Amino acid sequence: MADRLMSLSLDQQTLLEYRAILENASVGILFTRDRKVLHCNPRFNEIFGYAEGELQGQPGRVFYLSDTDYTRMGEVAGPRLTRGEPVSLEFTMRRKDDTPIDCHMRIKPVNPHNSAEGTIWIFEDITERKKAESALQQLIHRQDAILENASVGIMFTRNGLIELTNPRFDAILGWPPGALLGQKTRVFFSSDEDHQAFAEHAGATLASGALMEAEWLNSRQDGSQVWCRHLAKAVTTTADNRTTIWITEDISEKKAAADALLQAHQVLEQRVEERTRELQDAHQRMQVVIDSSTLAIYTQDQQGRVLSWNTAAEKMFNLLRQETLDDPSVFSQRLETPELQALREQAFEGGKVVNTELQLNLPGGQALELSLNIVALQGQAGQAYGVLTMASDISERKANERKVAFMAYHDALTGLPNRQLLEDRLEVAMAQADRAKTKVSLLFLDLDNFKRINDTLGHAVGDSLLQEVAQRLRTCVRESDTISRQGGDEFVVLLNALKDKDAALPVIAKLLDRLDEPFYTDGHELATSASIGVTVYPDDGQDFDTLRKKADMAMYRAKEAGRNTYRYFNEAMNAEAKEHLHLRNGLRRALERNELVLHYQPQIDLPTGRIFGAEALIRWNHPDLGMVSPARFIPVAEDSGLIVPIGDWVMSEACRQAMSWYRQGLPALLMAVNVSVAQFNRGNLEEALVKVLLESGMNPQNLELELTESLLIQNVDHVLAALKRLKGLGVQLAIDDFGTGYSSLSYLKRFDIDKLKIDQSFVRDLVADPEDTAIVNAIIQMAKSMGLKTIAEGVETPDIVKLLQRFGCDEAQGFFFARPMPADAFASFVSSHPQTNTPLA
Ligand code: C2E
Ligand code: MG
Ligand code: MG
Repeated sequence: MADRLMSLSLDQQTLLEYRAILENASVGILFTRDRKVLHCNPRFNEIFGYAEGELQGQPGRVFYLSDTDYTRMGEVAGPRLTRGEPVSLEFTMRRKDDTPIDCHMRIKPVNPHNSAEGTIWIFEDITERKKAESALQQLIHRQDAILENASVGIMFTRNGLIELTNPRFDAILGWPPGALLGQKTRVFFSSDEDHQAFAEHAGATLASGALMEAEWLNSRQDGSQVWCRHLAKAVTTTADNRTTIWITEDISEKKAAADALLQAHQVLEQRVEERTRELQDAHQRMQVVIDSSTLAIYTQDQQGRVLSWNTAAEKMFNLLRQETLDDPSVFSQRLETPELQALREQAFEGGKVVNTELQLNLPGGQALELSLNIVALQGQAGQAYGVLTMASDISERKANERKVAFMAYHDALTGLPNRQLLEDRLEVAMAQADRAKTKVSLLFLDLDNFKRINDTLGHAVGDSLLQEVAQRLRTCVRESDTISRQGGDEFVVLLNALKDKDAALPVIAKLLDRLDEPFYTDGHELATSASIGVTVYPDDGQDFDTLRKKADMAMYRAKEAGRNTYRYFNEAMNAEAKEHLHLRNGLRRALERNELVLHYQPQIDLPTGRIFGAEALIRWNHPDLGMVSPARFIPVAEDSGLIVPIGDWVMSEACRQAMSWYRQGLPALLMAVNVSVAQFNRGNLEEALVKVLLESGMNPQNLELELTESLLIQNVDHVLAALKRLKGLGVQLAIDDFGTGYSSLSYLKRFDIDKLKIDQSFVRDLVADPEDTAIVNAIIQMAKSMGLKTIAEGVETPDIVKLLQRFGCDEAQGFFFARPMPADAFASFVSSHPQTNTPLA
């Protein structure tokens, strides 16, 4: 260069100035020729790490890191320099210590027309700049990477225009990548109002430089909506440059989740509300049920303090709800019992329902029979905290049960023990008697004319009478004795612990006495009496049935003996009873086997001695017993009801026989037939009679029915009507055995009777017994005055006949004239004695 300068003949001054420039230049300057260093300035040495003058003459290769670099530089710069053009380039060169150095270099030939004159290299160390550039590059890369990969949307706006968006932002708002650039932010809003609202919300914050936060429902390109959360901050806020960075998240899902959560929460709340309401309803309903229940329902804690108390409990225990709830001591004071307490504990600890029945005494003294169900109350965790009690008042049911039990052993009408209880008591009494060697007596008591009272005055009066009788019987015996009603008017009295059989006598006497007194029932004065049969244990039997049956038998004997008396049982009665049974069984077949026959006893007209009639008297030709008297079997027939067919047969046979005699040529005779009361009560006498009259062709005038007084003391109206109808048929009516019953003559007037048959008990001793004489005479006279005929039965002697004739008795019948005889014998008798009067009188 110095050569060049010299060749240009520069003046000294200018040379010095160049030199100063070279020495102080801030860039490295290098002169080369023929690929060798001519010289360089200090800055160059400094940049490349060489000492002053060290590079002089060094090949250019030393500045390159490799031959390749050297060659490349030659290829790049060589041709241009040869053409005289400057070259400007950046290249990484080599320092003296081999370290690389980034350099910016301008190379030009010293003489553009001849590059062989050398080149000037001006070097700038751009390592720092390079470093900064690379750092910036890196920053930009990173920023891009961030933008590209950010999971949030990022947008830059400048003065309301979109300057930059990252892919995520585009995606969130539904735009193709980059499509938003240059658009206005209005595109994110569904309407101007919405946009305005957002601007108002965000504007002030952004203007203040603070971080703006907003959650907004933005619009996508396709119009769909997306919930976004925006964070925004102004980067610059000068008037002409308002750059803002937006960081945007799609919170639709979060929102949806939150919404769902909210909704779920709301649903849950609603459900809870509904459930609560349901529970309240259920509770309310339950409360209504509990309060309207007839069961007392209440709850208590473990200490017995009342927690709840329903309306029925108020009534049942006569304790108000408020009282029991307010004061825990009320329940314990007024109702608590050790038994209740124990039951509660049992339910509480056992965890099971305790069912029981118990009696509870209320403070007022009233006793309640309760059925209790007690159950433990369990809390949420399953632990018991108290008990619930349901109580029903079963007092009525219990009373009914007791009543039923009582009724099972007592007579409903009189309240007396019944047969069952009597039997039980007898068992006990017999066992006691065995131990104490004492006796027990069974009295079978039957009222004498109860049936008549019942029939005439009605069942109500009958019932009252029975109750009165029961009352009187009670006053006659000891506490330890038993009176029982067996049904109807039959009572059985059990007397126990008697020292002997006679010890019963005072009691029997008392019973008869008391029952003989008149009863005043329902405005009626009633006279009755009793017949009593007596058996003794162990003498008469070992069990109830035997003792009772025998007492019954003895009672019949008392009745037969004229009533209002008693009979002890004896074995003869038993034999008779056996016979009674025997007869009864045989009697059933007697009719079918024609074992029954009629005998006839003549009846005499006393003034003329003429046979005017016959009484038909039945006989039983028994296969084993021979001729059985009606006195033996008629009562059996009456008892069994067989008297009805037998009676019908008697009437029919008697009429048939009468007509047969008449046809034989005998005079028309009056046929007297005995009619039992039982035939009135149990059969249809009228109908049977009509049938007999029609079948036999008998004139009713020639038939006489012999009735007994006992018939007349039955239901008066009924008998009156029946007798009237019989009379209406044209038959004659006579009262048999007159004088033994209770009927007075005046009483008889009411009945349409034709004849009185004076009982043979008065006739038998008529001559010897003045009393009988008086009675018979009185009967005859009174009958006459009433227009009734009289006939005496049982006439056995001529003296009696004479006396009867004197008194004016109309007719007679008896052994004196003839005994009862079979039909053919009777026919012969009548034929041979057309007039019995003269020889007999
Ligand atoms: P009754 O109707 O008073 O009959 C008279 C009874 O006195 C008869 O007894 C007769 O034989 C008996 N007798 C007649 N004259 C004399 C006499 O001079 N001295 C004595 N000591 N007795 C005399 P009989 O035939 O044994 O009948 C007894 C009773 O049986 C009857 O008493 C009557 O109540 C009843 N009877 C007889 N036949 C029938 C009948 O066909 N139907 C019904 N329901 N009862 C009858
Ligand atoms: Mg008779
Ligand atoms: Mg008689």
